[in-house]
Amino acid sequence: MQNKSEATNLLEVKNLSKYFYGRRTVVKAVDDVSFYIPRGETLGLVGESGCGKTTCGRTILKLYPATSGQVIYDGKDVTGKMSRRELKAFKKSAQIIFQDPYSSLDPRMTIAEIVGEGIDVHFDYSSRQKHDKVTELLAAVGLTEEFANRFAHELSGGQRQRVGIARALAVDPDFIVCDEPISALDVSIQAQIVNLLIKLQKERDLTYLFISHDLSMVRHISDRIGVMYLGSLVELAPSPAMFARPLHPYTTALLSAIPTADPEHEKTRERIKLPGEVPSAMNPPSGCKFRTRCPYAADICAAKVPVLEEAETGRYVACHLWRELAERDAEVAN
Ligand code: SF4
Repeated sequence: MQNKSEATNLLEVKNLSKYFYGRRTVVKAVDDVSFYIPRGETLGLVGESGCGKTTCGRTILKLYPATSGQVIYDGKDVTGKMSRRELKAFKKSAQIIFQDPYSSLDPRMTIAEIVGEGIDVHFDYSSRQKHDKVTELLAAVGLTEEFANRFAHELSGGQRQRVGIARALAVDPDFIVCDEPISALDVSIQAQIVNLLIKLQKERDLTYLFISHDLSMVRHISDRIGVMYLGSLVELAPSPAMFARPLHPYTTALLSAIPTADPEHEKTRERIKLPGEVPSAMNPPSGCKFRTRCPYAADICAAKVPVLEEAETGRYVACHLWRELAERDAEVAN
């Protein structure tokens, strides 16, 4: 998979797999996934719970060792062994914002201590410099200086997630894995946090991998979106193109579930209800893993694994029948 734009890639994920081995079982949580993220852009990674998106983000950050494949970060392969110095530099440059702001902040530490922890590891600051940096970070995420001496339990969910963001920013990263950063928050707060992340990205030239099960929220922040199903990437496309015309039947089903603001369109919106549950990652279906729920499954879908192919410039899909389905949709539209 190649980036055909002018922008240089900060991250290239090549055939990345992460398997978890039990005594008699193998869970292919991430199975031969490839994508790239140009510097300063956001890739949204979506899919139902358990599809491997969080494992993918954590494997990229070396929180889990990769089973196979490569993660090329800023031109260097970070999948293999790294010296302590290289690893420290990578951990400084590539950060994570966790899903649950309730459990990811140490309840015994003040907010200033939580935000300042990374500063101690990566910078040789005086206490005055550290204090100023923490104050600046709190302001950047919309919190006043008074929050510095409070504890996490005194904060609302949205305020705690702002602290989580300040903690990630404290080491001046280039890349952040935003791992479901809004799913534990009230709907009214979710848009505020997404808008904050967009503002910070512009101000600090950040690159994001934004993981979410909510395709509608991912749309607002993502330049491109990747859709995962049972450990595999099934579609990858620029955000507007995917919303205008999804190519994979699974993406089509996910998009059909999103309500629109137009009451007339809502009356006619046809929601595609997929049959059954997501199969177990321990025993996925042969061929196309989506075939047991796909309304268009044919014989070839059971026999052969569909590869992610470039359908149009910059658009990728893994489906044996995507051409036929696209032609059929075009005929219906005409
Ligand atoms: Fe459906 Fe077959 Fe395409 Fe899989 S390969 S999404 S089963 S049509």
